[in-house]
Amino acid sequence: MSDVKVLSVASEIYPLVKTGGLADVVGALPGALALEGIAVTTLVPGYPAVLAALRDPEVVYVYHWFFGGDARLLRAHAAGLDLFVLDAPHLFNRPGNPYVAADGKDWSDNPIRFAALSRIAADLGLGFVPGYQADIVHAHDWQTGLAPAYLGYSGRAHPPSVMTVHNMAFQGQYGRELLPALGLPDHSFSMEGVEYFGTIGFLKAGLQLADRITTVSPTYAAEIRTAEGGMGLDGLLRSRAAVVSGILNGIDSDVWNPAADPLIAAGYDIAHLSDRALNKAALQQRMGLDVDPDAQLFGVVSRLTWQKGLDLLLDRLGILLRNGGQLAVLGSGDPGLADGFGLAALGNPGRVGIVHGYDESLAHLIQAGSDVVLVPSRFEPCGLTQLCALRYGAIPLVARVGGLADTIIDANDVARAAGIGTGIQFSAVTADGLEAALYRTADLWRDRAYWQTMQRNAMNTDVSWRRPAAAYAALYRSLIAGRN
Ligand code: ADP
Repeated sequence: MSDVKVLSVASEIYPLVKTGGLADVVGALPGALALEGIAVTTLVPGYPAVLAALRDPEVVYVYHWFFGGDARLLRAHAAGLDLFVLDAPHLFNRPGNPYVAADGKDWSDNPIRFAALSRIAADLGLGFVPGYQADIVHAHDWQTGLAPAYLGYSGRAHPPSVMTVHNMAFQGQYGRELLPALGLPDHSFSMEGVEYFGTIGFLKAGLQLADRITTVSPTYAAEIRTAEGGMGLDGLLRSRAAVVSGILNGIDSDVWNPAADPLIAAGYDIAHLSDRALNKAALQQRMGLDVDPDAQLFGVVSRLTWQKGLDLLLDRLGILLRNGGQLAVLGSGDPGLADGFGLAALGNPGRVGIVHGYDESLAHLIQAGSDVVLVPSRFEPCGLTQLCALRYGAIPLVARVGGLADTIIDANDVARAAGIGTGIQFSAVTADGLEAALYRTADLWRDRAYWQTMQRNAMNTDVSWRRPAAAYAALYRSLIAGRN
C-alpha cells in the first residue's frame, strides 16, 4: 500500500520521449518507488509522441486560454506509468526534439512552454485539480524550476517541494520582461526569488524556493558548490548546503539485462562470460571493424558535446590504435565531432567505426560487445552509460568526476592485488590524462585473468534502483515528518 503521493514533473520520460539520462531517471523511479510505498504520478508535456502512447485518457481539467491557447489536463496510464499529461497543442504539438526546432535553435517560446508545465505542477500540488492531492512535488531540471516558485508565491498552504538537478549546464535564463506573461508577481523578481543576474532563472528559482535540493551523485553535489562546477549557482548552493544532497541514479535492470536482452546478438550472464564473444563479433561486423577477438574493442555511446570530452579521445585516438585497440562510436550531436570520428573511420578502415545518430538497439549491442566503454566527460552529474557498462561486463574507462568517480572502483595496483576494481579512472581530464589511462587499459588487457575478475566485479555491482529509491523514499518521508 502506498502511503505517500508524489507528483513528479519533468520535460521527458522514458520510454515515451527521451533526449538523455533525465528521461531514464524519471521513467524508472516510479516503479522503484512503488516498492517503497510511494505512489508517483508524473506530469509531462503532451508532445505528439506522448499523446500517441495514451489509451483512453481521462480529461481531468479543461483550461480556456492557458499561456496563449486552450489546454486540457489528461490523466492516463502508458508504459506502466501513471501520468498527468498537459495537452496544450499551441505549446507542445510540434515535431521532433522537445527543445529545439528543425533549424537546431531552441523554440523561442520555451520559457512559456515550460512555465505552463510548472504552473500545472503547482496547481496539482495546491489541490486545484479535483480528485488529486500530492504530498510532495518533485521537480526535475530547469524546465520545471518554476514549480516551487509558483507554489511559494501562491500565498496558500502547499506541500513541500524537491528540486533535482540532473545537469547544472542547463539553467533556463530569460528576460525579466516575461515576468507578467509567466504569471509571477513583481516581488518575485528578487535575489530571494526568481531573479538571476538580472534575468529570470528557472533553475535558480527552483534551487532557491524548493524545500530540498538533490542532485544525482554525492560527488556532483559537492562539485556544484564550487565555482567551477556551480556554473554561477555555487553561492546559492553553498548558502543552502544544509538541504543539498546527492542520490546516485540507478538503471532499469529489466531493460538492461544481458541475460534477457532482445537487442543483442547473444544473451549471457556472469557464469557464461565467454558468450560475450558472440556480441563482440556481431558489433565488429555491424560497425565495419575487423572481426578479431583479441583486439581490445572500445565503445562509446554518447551525446556528442564538449561535456563528454570526446575531443580528447579524437586527440589521442592514435595511441588507442597503436596499442592494438579498435573503436566503435555511437553518438548524436555536434557535427564537428561527428565529422572528426567520420574522418578517423575513413582513415582507419576496420579499426574505427562511427554511427552518427540515436540508436537504442545499437547502444545495447555496444554495451554487450565492447571490452571497454569510454566516458571521458569533463563533468558528469551521474552518468548512466558506465552503469550499463558495469551490468554488461564492459569495463568502464572514465574521467574521475561527478558520478563517474562515485560508481567505478579504479583498478590501480592495490585494487588489482586485492582482486577488486571495476574499471579505470583518470584525472586530470586532459588528453594527457586520457593517454595515460589508455596505456593502463592496454596493460590490464594483457592480464586476461584479472580482466575477467574485473568483469565479474563489474557485473556483481548493484546498479539497480533499489538503493536510490530507498534514499528518495527516506527524503520524502523526512520532509513530510518535518511538516507534521
Ligand atoms: P546524458 O543524460 O548527459 O546524455 P547519461 O549518461 O546520464 O548522459 O545518459 C545517457 C543515456 O542516453 C544513456 O542511457 C545512453 O545509453 C543513452 N544514449 C546517449 N546517446 C545515445 C545514442 N546516440 N543512441 C542511443 N542511446 C544513447
